[in-house]
Amino acid sequence: MTIQMNGKRGLIMGVANDRSIAWGIARSMAAAGAELAFSYQGEGLLKRVGPLAESVGSDTLVEADVTDDASLDACFQTLKDKWGSIDFLVHAIAYSDKNELTGRVSDTTRANFTNSMAISCYSFIDVSRRAAELMPEGGTLLTLTYDGSQRITPNYNVMGVAKAALESATRYLAADLGPQQIRVNAISPGPMKTLAGAAIAGARRTFKYAEANSPLRHNATLDAVGGTAVYLASDAGACTTGEIIHVDSGLHIMMMPALENLG
Ligand code: NAD
Repeated sequence: MTIQMNGKRGLIMGVANDRSIAWGIARSMAAAGAELAFSYQGEGLLKRVGPLAESVGSDTLVEADVTDDASLDACFQTLKDKWGSIDFLVHAIAYSDKNELTGRVSDTTRANFTNSMAISCYSFIDVSRRAAELMPEGGTLLTLTYDGSQRITPNYNVMGVAKAALESATRYLAADLGPQQIRVNAISPGPMKTLAGAAIAGARRTFKYAEANSPLRHNATLDAVGGTAVYLASDAGACTTGEIIHVDSGLHIMMMPALENLG
């Protein structure tokens, strides 16, 4: 069976460049027949997101900073005016001060804790409510998490705490919105070479470790994350909600390094 998204429309939030996980999802969804709108964080990103959107036939680009209610109001109003309703939303947004993605979690400042939680967790709750209003026939909400929520990953610190909250929010939202036939899921990729990924101290070593020790001995790809998103947002995922789906070549099942790397 080829999974199709023909006739489905949705918003992709979080493309910064062609390495962004949101972009991997967008191009897979477009290839499956979905019609896409893109939000971008600020004027500076438009020159990167614009040509990418155009390459998948999208002419709907809206600026949206998730810390700014007015910009989110305008973004969702644009979607309402253009389409009336949507079928899916992809939230691929996270942020923490780089200076706190190193060292000890016990040194996290109140200001960065609050900001990281607001951008990386609350924003999903916020856009879910806005998107649900545009989903009278049901739909799908997707977010991106990382297994540093469950287990310790060097330097991930406050972002691990934020991802744990995001995963919990995914389950609560799934329960809230399920009666409206809105499914809510999170994809948990292994380490990927993106702007956000590079902000974590030691990212290159983490990437190499994952490559050497995951059962499949390679890291996740944009296409594999994109394919999982297509499954979840299509009718093939019709009975899946509240899940955290790993796309990490199995890394999360390993308690210890692979046998050849045990030393
Ligand atoms: P990325 O840097 O390409 O994307 C992060 C996006 O967040 C950017 O587009 C940025 O503009 C957006 N963003 C940050 N603050 C924002 C704000 N205030 N308003 C609107 N947008 C804002 O990096 P990525 O790795 O593709 O990150 C996407 C998601 O995937 C994140 O949630 C990240 O935590 C998650 N993730 C990444 C990895 C990895 O190894 N890279 C692994 C698992 C999960």
